[in-house]
Amino acid sequence: MRIPMIAGNWKMNTTVSEATELVNEMRLGLDEIDNVDKVICPPFISLATVRELIRRSSIKLGAQNIYFEEKGAYTGEISPLMLADLCEFVIIGHSERRQYFNETGKIINKKVQAALRVGLKPILCIGERLEENEAGKTKEVVTEQLESSLAGMEHLNGLTIAYEPVWAIGTGRAATGEQANDTIGLIRRTISQKYGKKIAQELRILYGGSVTADNTAEFMQQPEIDGALVGGASLNADQFLSIVRQTSEIKARLSAEN
Ligand code: PEP
Repeated sequence: MRIPMIAGNWKMNTTVSEATELVNEMRLGLDEIDNVDKVICPPFISLATVRELIRRSSIKLGAQNIYFEEKGAYTGEISPLMLADLCEFVIIGHSERRQYFNETGKIINKKVQAALRVGLKPILCIGERLEENEAGKTKEVVTEQLESSLAGMEHLNGLTIAYEPVWAIGTGRAATGEQANDTIGLIRRTISQKYGKKIAQELRILYGGSVTADNTAEFMQQPEIDGALVGGASLNADQFLSIVRQTSEIKARLSAEN
């Protein structure tokens, strides 16, 4: 049985004091919800502060990016070793990084491998752009992104995949539960062909793209969807708590039915 995960990607939002306030608003509520991995991913500069605030809770910490070298003359970058000291998860290959910072499949592959080498758990983002979706190329794009991001990797221990159609991120135009479930099923079959059925069945695959408290149930009722990567709605404590709570309840019910 895969443990569901809700990860909040705060993106480039919150100063350290705002991050502190937001954690304080959601900490007790989140801590009470079980059966879900609850991960928050604040900006780098707030990681150390947030780590202290959640130290005695069940909330887990993630970063939003990583560099693939461990140390050296790379001004402004943050290395896997530095992050491994602070958090458990790291988002890699978010579409905003692919789009604005020219991250290619090759770079993302290096980052995933670098994270796993130091024991960080990557949340690898893949997903098609609007024109690719409209041209019926979702399968082709997602398969290619999987192949390039995971090139040369013999195991996937610690990896989570987030299927995030680019047209749904930050647009308020989410995929339907059925669309997301179909593509996530395809991702799982692709992983199964390459790594075998057991690894594919154990792999956690999230949906991301305009998830809110209002549409969470639609996604969590789908059997292939193991949780969500949440952007905008993770900056609102009530919304985020509701998303996590609904996920816990729905997935517990589905698991009792099976
Ligand atoms: C994201 O940042 O990964 C994301 C899915 O954003 P939003 O929920 O705002 O669409």
